[in-house]
Amino acid sequence: MDGISSKPPERIVACPGCGGPSVYAPRNRYRPFCGERCKNHDLGAWASEEHRVPDPTPPDDFDLGSSPLQ
Ligand SMILES: [Zn+2]
Repeated sequence: MDGISSKPPERIVACPGCGGPSVYAPRNRYRPFCGERCKNHDLGAWASEEHRVPDPTPPDDFDLGSSPLQ
C-alpha cells in the first residue's frame, strides 16, 4: 500500500496547442492547454482560420445513363 494521499487527482491530458502533457486541474488556469502561450496561440489560430471555408465538394459528374449497353 502506498499510504493515503490527500491531493486531489490530477489528470494529464494532451494540450490542444502543442500536444504535450497538460495538467487538467483547477490549478492550471489555462486548461486544457498546458500554458498561456498555447492558449493564446490557439485562440489566434481560431480567429484567423475560423471563417475560412474549405473547397466545396465538387458536384457528382457521373454519367450513369450514357454507357452503351448492347
Ligand atoms: Zn501546449
